[in-house]
Amino acid sequence: MDVAENLNRIRQNIEHACKSSNRNLDEITIIGVTKYVTIERAKEAIEAGITNLGENRLEGFLEKHEYIQDSASWHFIGTLQSRKVKEVIGKVDAIHSLDRKSLAREINKRSAKPVDCFVQVNVSGEETKHGLQPEETLSFIRELEVYDNVRIVGLMTMAPHIEDEERLRNIFRQLASLREDIQGEHIAYAPCEYLSMGMSNDYQLAVEEGATHIRIGSDLVGS
Ligand SMILES: *Cc1c(COP(=O)(O)O)cnc(C)c1O
Repeated sequence: MDVAENLNRIRQNIEHACKSSNRNLDEITIIGVTKYVTIERAKEAIEAGITNLGENRLEGFLEKHEYIQDSASWHFIGTLQSRKVKEVIGKVDAIHSLDRKSLAREINKRSAKPVDCFVQVNVSGEETKHGLQPEETLSFIRELEVYDNVRIVGLMTMAPHIEDEERLRNIFRQLASLREDIQGEHIAYAPCEYLSMGMSNDYQLAVEEGATHIRIGSDLVGS
């Protein structure tokens, strides 16, 4: 399938989800996840109008970044080993997978300026998923005060690959409610305005429940 056609369809779905939940279309950023595809295909996505790309592995990220550079904004969405942090700093615009203090410490140490980070939360409780438990998220964010170069711009979660709409909505609602709790704390380094949630399987629901960043791979560029 043509990426431009896929993007068209996805945008229409997002528009529909925005209408049914009284949201503005311009609140939503589509991150094209190119982890399954070639550099050529990633370039097609950019030509079709995608301005944000996401990669979940260091090798794939570095390889694509080298060719595409700042023709896109870059989101690192996968598990990041602390010792690899220095390789992404200066190249990524946001890290969506902050889930431990040692990683924050390393980001702080390697960057000369604040890095936009999303705290990854394991809302579904699946053992295979990374991320903090919802109830430990606020105290984790408080502990980051010592790291001047870590800025918490939002929360990220991955929902399970299921069709159960109510369960999916419930997961997205929990993340949205956690964001409200954190925003209510008025922490200077944690404005926490964004929600990175929703993938090919569930992005319409995620948008209806407040997503600001949706991460779409297979439905956009294929897998
Ligand atoms: C692969 C991946 C996605 C995109 O998944 P699709 O189902 O292909 O849309 C989104 N977020 C993360 C963290 C991923 O690893």
